[in-house]
Amino acid sequence: MTDSQTAAERIAQLRSELDDHNYRYYVLDEPSVPDAEYDRLFRELKALETEHPELITPESPTQRVGSKALSAVLPRPNVAFAPVRHLIPMLSLDNAFDEQAMLEFDRRVREGLAEELPPGDLFGNGPEVEYSCELKLDGLAVSLLYENGFLVRGATRGDGSVGEDITANVRTVRSIPLRLRGDGWPASLEVRGEVYMPKVEFERLNAEAIAEGGKTFANPRNAAAGSIRQLDPSVTEMRRLSFFTYGVGFAEGDLPGTQLDRLALLRSWGFPLNRELKKAVGVQACLAYYQDIAIKRDELPYEIDGVVFKVNRIDFQLELGFRAREPRWAIAHKFPAREELTELLDVEFQVGRTGAVTPVARLKPVQVAGVTVSNATLHNMDEVARLGLMIGDTVIIRRAGDVIPQVMQVVAERRPDDARPVDIPTQCPVCGSQVERTQLVKRSKGKESVSEGAIYRCVGRLFCQAQLKQAIIHFVSRRAMDIDGLGDKIVEQLVDKGLVKSPADLYTLIYDQIIELEGFAEVSTRNLLGSIANSRKPSLARFVFALGIPDVGEETAKLLARSLGKLDRIQEALPEVLTYLPDVGAEVAYEIHNFFEDEHNCKVIAELRDPQHGVLLQDEGDVSAELAACATLDGMLVKLNITSIGPTSARKLVAKLDSLDKIIAADGIDLRQVLSSKQADAVREFFKVEANRKLAREIEAQLLEFGMHWNSARKSVEGLPLAGQTWVLTGTLERMSRDIAKARLESLGAKVSNSVSTKTHCVVAGESAGSKLAKAHELNVAVMDEEQLVKLLADHGIGA
Ligand code: NAD
Repeated sequence: MTDSQTAAERIAQLRSELDDHNYRYYVLDEPSVPDAEYDRLFRELKALETEHPELITPESPTQRVGSKALSAVLPRPNVAFAPVRHLIPMLSLDNAFDEQAMLEFDRRVREGLAEELPPGDLFGNGPEVEYSCELKLDGLAVSLLYENGFLVRGATRGDGSVGEDITANVRTVRSIPLRLRGDGWPASLEVRGEVYMPKVEFERLNAEAIAEGGKTFANPRNAAAGSIRQLDPSVTEMRRLSFFTYGVGFAEGDLPGTQLDRLALLRSWGFPLNRELKKAVGVQACLAYYQDIAIKRDELPYEIDGVVFKVNRIDFQLELGFRAREPRWAIAHKFPAREELTELLDVEFQVGRTGAVTPVARLKPVQVAGVTVSNATLHNMDEVARLGLMIGDTVIIRRAGDVIPQVMQVVAERRPDDARPVDIPTQCPVCGSQVERTQLVKRSKGKESVSEGAIYRCVGRLFCQAQLKQAIIHFVSRRAMDIDGLGDKIVEQLVDKGLVKSPADLYTLIYDQIIELEGFAEVSTRNLLGSIANSRKPSLARFVFALGIPDVGEETAKLLARSLGKLDRIQEALPEVLTYLPDVGAEVAYEIHNFFEDEHNCKVIAELRDPQHGVLLQDEGDVSAELAACATLDGMLVKLNITSIGPTSARKLVAKLDSLDKIIAADGIDLRQVLSSKQADAVREFFKVEANRKLAREIEAQLLEFGMHWNSARKSVEGLPLAGQTWVLTGTLERMSRDIAKARLESLGAKVSNSVSTKTHCVVAGESAGSKLAKAHELNVAVMDEEQLVKLLADHGIGA
C-alpha cells in the first residue's frame, strides 16, 4: 500500500488484480504471474480484510474458491462444456507457508475439538490429533460421479459450486476407472482427486511445442488444466494425464469413519492412491512428513507444490466445519515456490567451445526455492524470440531441483516504455570475428535442403580466445588427454600470454615459459612438463574425444575408435558410412564429417602428430568385425533415401540384382520384376542423376577401402557372440527404434528376420506384440522383452 492510498483503495486494487489473475489461471489456463506472487497479493488482501472486517464483501476473492467456469464466461458456440452443479461444494485449502502457521493450524484444530479430545497429560502436553498426510499434487481438482459402479460424469471444480462437464475428457485418463472393481460401493458415489501431468510428459509436450514453434505451458499444472479442457477429447488422450484420488465428495450410504480408511476402500474399488500417503499423530509428525517429502520432491515423477494434512476422523471434520472458502480440518503446507518474478537487467552473450554464441539473462537477484538467482540460460535466439523477451521486462523464473534456472515467460503487462530488444551481436564479443547463423543441411529423398539453425557461431575458431580456452580445457581434461596440473586458470594464462594458440602448442612449451606463470616453481614446472610428455601416447578413443567434435561425447568417441580403428578412416569417413555405426544418426554423422572437412582442424591434427609435437596414437587397427558385418548393399540403398524404398523393398531388389552396378544399369523391366512400378520408377529416376550415382559409388568405394564391403572376405561374423543365430523383433520398442535394434543385433553377428520359425533363436517382444509373439510361444521359441535386450546389448558393450 502506498502512503497516499487508503486501505479501502488498496483492497479494491488487490481485488481487481486477483480477479484478473483468477480469470487467467482458472479460465484461460494462462496465468501471467507465478503462484508465489499471487499468494503474496492474496495474503495482503486477507490481512487487510482482517484489519478492516467492515470492508469484506461476498465478491471478494477471499470469499470464493476459483473462477466461473469457462463456458459461463465465454458463451461461444464452440465452447461446449455444460455446467455442472456440485452436490457438495468443491472447496479450496488454507495454506501454511512455514512451521509457525502449521503449529497455529494444529492449535486451532485442537481448540475446535476441545470437547471431543481426551484431556492432556500431567506435563501440560495437549492431546494429539491424528492426521492423514497427503501430497499436494500440482494438477487440477476433478469430481467423478459413479452411478451403480459406472462413471457417468466428470467435472472440473469451476467456482466451487458450478464446474464444467468434462466427462468425455476424463474418460481418456487411463488411471480413472470407468467401472468400479470389487463390490459394496454405494449406488451413487462422487470421488474427488487430482488430474495431473507427469513431468516427462510435460517436458515432451513443451519440447514438441518448441520444435513446432508453438506455445509452451509454463508448468505441468497449466498443461494438465489446458489438456483436460480440450473440446476434442482425442487431444486430451494424447496428453497422457494421470490421476490420484484424495477423497469422497458425496456417497449414498455409509462409508468408513476416517479419511485413511475411506481412501483404502477407494483403492480397493480401483482408484489410484498416492504411495506417499501416511498417517501422522500430532503436529510434529506432520512437520517430519513435510521434511521427508521435501527431500524426495525432485525425484517424484510429478510436480507437487506442498503436502496436505487432513484431520483423519470424519466426525471431527464435521465438528470443525468450514470457513468461507476452505475447510477448517485441512491445510496445505506449501514448499518454497519454484517460480518467481524478477527483472531482466540485460542479456549477455557467451562464446562456447564450439563457437556457439549463447544469450544469457542477467537478472535482478531473486530468491527462488531457497537460492539466489541472478543469471538464467536463454538457450538460443529462437528461444528469445519465442518468449518475446525485451531487456527491462519482468519475467517469470523457474528453478526446479538442480536444473539451471530458466526464464519461463514474460509478464507482458509490466513491460516498461524503455524496454529494448535483444539483438544478437554481429561480431563476437570476445574476438571480434563475425558471428554467423548456422545452417542445417538435411538430406531427404536424395535432395539436400538448407535451413537456418537456431545457433549462431563465432567464425573465429581457435583465433577466438574464448573458443581456444574452452577447447584447450577440454583437450587436457581427465577423460581426454588427461594432462594433470593444467587447470582452467593456467590454461587462461597460457592463452592470454599468447604461449598457446592451438592444442599442438602445448607440446612445444618449454621450462622457461612455464616457470614464468603465476603459481609455478621448479617442481611444479617439471611436473607439468612431465604430464604433458606422458600424454603423448593416448588411445585413439581419448584422442578423438579430446578433439572436441560437436556432438561427440566420450561414448561416441569410443565407438568411432572401436569400429573404424584408425584416425585416418574416421577423418575420411563419409556421413553415410558413419551412419553404419549403431549409435550414429545422420545429424551426428554430418557434424563429424564437417569437423574433419575443416582445413583448420585438419592442420591442428596433423601438427599434433608430426614428429616435433609427437602425439602417437596407441591402438590403431582394422575396422571392427561388428561394423564390417553391418554393411550390406540393401542397407546402403536405404541410406541413399530413394523415394519409397524402405528396408523391405531394398532387400527384394538386392535379392534379384546383387551389385550396385547391376542396380544402376537395370531397366524398368528388370526392376518391375521385384518392385512396384512406382518404386521401380523412383529407383530409375534416382540413378539417372549423375550426382546420385557418384555418391553411391563413393560410398561403395569407401566401404571397399575400409574392408567393410559386402564382398570383402567375411573373416568377421564367425566368432561374434550371436553368430549363426536368427532373431525376430516384434511390437513397439520404447528405448530404440526397431531399425536400431536390428543394426545392434546384426553388429553382434545375428541375422534379423521378419518371421518366426523353429529356426528362430529368440524373439524380442516390445509393447503390444501380437501374432509373432503368439507364434513364438506356440513353437517354444525363447522370448525376451526390451529390458532384457538392452541388458544383453549392454553386456556386449553397446549402450541404449
Ligand atoms: P490450492 O491449490 O491452494 O488448494 C486446493 C486444491 O489442491 C484442490 O482443489 C486440489 O486440486 C488440490 N489438491 C492437491 N492435492 C490435494 C489433496 N491431497 N487433498 C485435497 N486437495 C488437493 O487452492 P486453489 O484454490 O485451487 O488455488 C489457489 C492457488 O492457486 C493459489 O494459492 C495460487 O498458488 C494459485 N493461483 C495462482 C494464480 C496465478 O495467477 N498464478 C491465480 C489463481 C490461483
